[in-house]
Amino acid sequence: MAASSSWVSATFPVPMKHGNQRSGRINSQGWVRAPINRNRGKQSNSSIRLRDLSAAAAINETSSNITSKRSSSSSSSSSSSSSKEGRLARKETERLAYLVAAMLSSVGITSMAAIAVFSRFSWQLEGGEFPVVEMFGTFALSVGAAVGMEFWARWAHRALWHDSWWDIHESHHRARRGAFEANDVFAITNAVPAIALLSYGFFNKGIFPGLCFGAGLGITVFGMAYMFVHDGLVHRRFPVGPIANVHYLQTVAAAHQLHHADKFDGVPYGLFLGPQEVAEVGGTDELEKEVQRRINRSI
Ligand SMILES: [Zn+2]
Ligand SMILES: [Zn+2]
Repeated sequence: MAASSSWVSATFPVPMKHGNQRSGRINSQGWVRAPINRNRGKQSNSSIRLRDLSAAAAINETSSNITSKRSSSSSSSSSSSSSKEGRLARKETERLAYLVAAMLSSVGITSMAAIAVFSRFSWQLEGGEFPVVEMFGTFALSVGAAVGMEFWARWAHRALWHDSWWDIHESHHRARRGAFEANDVFAITNAVPAIALLSYGFFNKGIFPGLCFGAGLGITVFGMAYMFVHDGLVHRRFPVGPIANVHYLQTVAAAHQLHHADKFDGVPYGLFLGPQEVAEVGGTDELEKEVQRRINRSI
């Protein structure tokens, strides 16, 4: 049975192997399974597993530092500075690649959504009567769907990404190599229902299609906000400009860093209401410290 085999592998994680450390890399087979949070009995195991992951990442970093120190001591200072420049240039190219993808998708989706909203309601006005109820429903549901997405993301992150879909989500908890990670596929899959709802709502008249249109808009807005705050502000995949000056968003970012540090059994699993989740498990002090660390780093 597939479920029981995944349970076995989740319960008995493969011990970390460091056979590949000479090259400064961790053997991918040695990475541990996802933390499971179905009940408290399993949480201690899962928590250790995520800590192993952080430890492995630290070892990874340390071993690559040692490698780079060795190479810098054996070669001239000019070659080490040029390799550093090369690394920086590569990082810059990766940031640019992600920024272009983020901007193109944001501009594309925003303009498509704006045109769709305008066309849908101007098309409806041709009938003569202003569809007040329908328009109210559309906007109410767009807000409702955006809020609902936070709770969906919280549930899916805990029950799916850190469980049976861990093989994909794991790429997000490792040091990223390159501009993209396998975990990005979740952003694309969330776009599918949004596009389906928007197109059904766009091409059909009436209250129900209007509500679907609103839900599609809400999912789209949430997805874009998630990309800017999670990928841009927290993980610095591209510069986010003034977003970084919003104190609440810095608190959101600090809360998400606690998820990555696994301080409270992986909590928070949601993003925008992450500070609330942390407060519920008694982590307010730790969250404040993390916010201060972020602020100090950015000064
Ligand atoms: Zn996660
Ligand atoms: Zn993250």
